[in-house]
Amino acid sequence: MNKKYAVSVRPDEHSYEIRDRIEKVLTENGYERDDENPSVVFTVGGDGTFLYAVHQYLDKLENVCFYGLHTGTLGFYTDYRDSDFDEFMDFFLKGKVTETDYPLLEIHTETQSFYALNEVRVENAARTQKMNVYINDRLFETYRGTGMCLATQLGSTAYNRSLGGAVIQEGLDVVEMSEIAGIHHIKFRSLGSPIILKSTARVTWESESFQGALLGVDAEVYPLDDVKRIDICESPVMRVRMLRGRKIRYLDRLQSLF
Ligand code: NAD
Repeated sequence: MNKKYAVSVRPDEHSYEIRDRIEKVLTENGYERDDENPSVVFTVGGDGTFLYAVHQYLDKLENVCFYGLHTGTLGFYTDYRDSDFDEFMDFFLKGKVTETDYPLLEIHTETQSFYALNEVRVENAARTQKMNVYINDRLFETYRGTGMCLATQLGSTAYNRSLGGAVIQEGLDVVEMSEIAGIHHIKFRSLGSPIILKSTARVTWESESFQGALLGVDAEVYPLDDVKRIDICESPVMRVRMLRGRKIRYLDRLQSLF
């Protein structure tokens, strides 16, 4: 790893202070700030800051790894709080961090492509969204409701969990699809429960009209007015490389956060 770094920071005074401390320590140790081509991106803030940084460097993921410090409570993407600053920097400088990589979802509409670390979702607050759901090119169901969410294992504790989806233990190679306020009565039926699929599954959401719906990709949203088909799969190439310092067992992290 070369000694080029960048810092992605939540815009608040305290996080800026932490960023300045990180920069001071790195400069003293011969590191150089390079926002265009860093080999490590420090994130200072919360899970949202981490997600933002990943999206900021999407086209450089091969060469970049991310290392997160939380300025609130612990997060799923960060192992350190600001009170652990010295250990956070010490692990990095002494090379005691380990690298883990996580898959991204790859999403294609007729005209655009997107990548998601947590989840992709279609949400229509304006009217009932009807869509055909295909799994591996086979029609699985016709769904009516507010929308659908497809989450990664990492994203299973985020929006997916609020939808009643199961939390997926780290290390399991699966994705999870959940309904967002599905309509179920004598005329309209869809599965109703979340479904966990192999990570190799290809999911398609197709509709005569997604007018008024938004495509949510982690923290970002895009209009779907001219879209009729959304294809989703786990990306065969794009992965996010994350540096982990102290070892925290998945179930301990889960227990401390919820
Ligand atoms: P944010 O930074 O305020 O994050 C929203 C909340 O989601 C925070 O509490 C954050 O810690 C938590 N979060 C994010 N990723 C997580 C993960 N992988 N596991 C556990 N918790 C996680 O806001 P943002 O920047 O807009 O973050 C985008 C994410 O927020 C989306 O990817 C989505 O998962 C989540 N979100 C959740 C809901 C909901 O639960 N109803 C609604 C919208 C967005």
